Amino acid sequence: MIALTFDDGPSEYTDRILNVLLEYDARATFCVIGNKVNLFPDVLKRTVAGGNEIACHTWSHPNLTNLSAAKVRAQIENTNNAVKEITGYQVKVLRPPYGKHNKTVRSICAEMDIVIAHWELDTRDWSSRNTNSVYNAIMKGVKNGYIILCHDLYETTAAAVEKAIPELIAKGYQLVTVSELLSFHKDGAAPGKVYNRVDPENIVTGK
Ligand code: ZN
Repeated sequence: MIALTFDDGPSEYTDRILNVLLEYDARATFCVIGNKVNLFPDVLKRTVAGGNEIACHTWSHPNLTNLSAAKVRAQIENTNNAVKEITGYQVKVLRPPYGKHNKTVRSICAEMDIVIAHWELDTRDWSSRNTNSVYNAIMKGVKNGYIILCHDLYETTAAAVEKAIPELIAKGYQLVTVSELLSFHKDGAAPGKVYNRVDPENIVTGK
């Protein structure tokens, strides 16, 4: 089981990723930026309709550790409200920009019943902007229980996952959302806690 995650969208390339997920009956998590969601309402609706997860990547992508508690809360609440208004979907996961969080961020998430999703494998797609590099990063780095970081901002990332998803499935991986992955954690998912993977020995299925 793995959780592909796509940050910084929605964008004009999100649809391509949704298409390949749909074709292979797979799911992923889209960590959206609040101030972009009203530019792509149909993409957002399609994301939810495909059984994918929408996570909060804040309203305007600040480093949350530099903000007051009130501003952190607004970054999360405004995004989640915008997502809910368009799709009816209740966001349950935060992906903090730059992976940066502190005690304030974690305790606000705990209060808001939100888990924090970090990543175990960074495809560095934002840096390489190269289809083969992103594809190789996924295929060489993937392990059971991993959360994998990509960005649905680049054509090269869309092309890489179009190639990787069928092969991951052929290798026996189930492509699930972050919340689905964490739902198989033997201790469950704790709001306010940070997850970058679920170790196979902690995965309990059929409970
Ligand atoms: Zn980001």
